[in-house]
Amino acid sequence: MFGRGIKLFRLFGIQVELHWTFLLALVLWGVLGRFGFAANLLLGLTVFGSVLVHELGHSLVAMRRQVRIAGIELHFFGGVAKMVDLPRNPRDEIAIAAAGPLTSLGLAVLAGTSWWLTGLAPLAWVAQVNLTLAIFNLLPALPMDGGRIFRAALQTRLGGLRATRIASTVARGFAVAIAVLGLFTDPFLVLLAVLLWTMAGQERRLAEWRHLEATGLPQVKIVFRDAFGRTMVVEDIGQRW
Ligand SMILES: [Zn+2]
Repeated sequence: MFGRGIKLFRLFGIQVELHWTFLLALVLWGVLGRFGFAANLLLGLTVFGSVLVHELGHSLVAMRRQVRIAGIELHFFGGVAKMVDLPRNPRDEIAIAAAGPLTSLGLAVLAGTSWWLTGLAPLAWVAQVNLTLAIFNLLPALPMDGGRIFRAALQTRLGGLRATRIASTVARGFAVAIAVLGLFTDPFLVLLAVLLWTMAGQERRLAEWRHLEATGLPQVKIVFRDAFGRTMVVEDIGQRW
């Protein structure tokens, strides 16, 4: 699935790519946003930069903990730092998962303080976008960062498979709640809920496959469609944040 995006540049040796859905999001944002086209686009680019910094936060902590990064992909719903290896233990997983929201939170505080000192309106945007990123990603719904932290916390006592099953069920509960909320407020939330539901299922299948592999049962190859309708073979998927 990786490598089909538009290659942008390398940062700290990490290839940054754009998925076509990100460009779609940028255009939609420009047209449907609250401000004029140019201002909306600028806000869209602020989101782009903020998501990129968030994913870099994950990536750099991952690399420090001997988890290789295949690249960062930005798409409609944000970004993905694609890990080649699995974190070696739940503690590493928590550190890598927490790095993204903490980076966003740090950037929000920095931008907020700068805004307070200078009164420059775009800085208020940067603060708002990053605060939203931090809070949204801390939702304890797998595969969101908060969900990964929740799963890793359960894992020490319950093992990877049970922890993932519980975390993905909780995530699907969140998906239902978000969908219901979206029906009354914003249709975008319904779309988000569908994506969350699908991805929570993928995480569960992935954990089941890993469990089968680890217990030495006959190897199975699971083929399914990912959230963007692409066919995936489970062996191709690394851990994602
Ligand atoms: Zn994240």
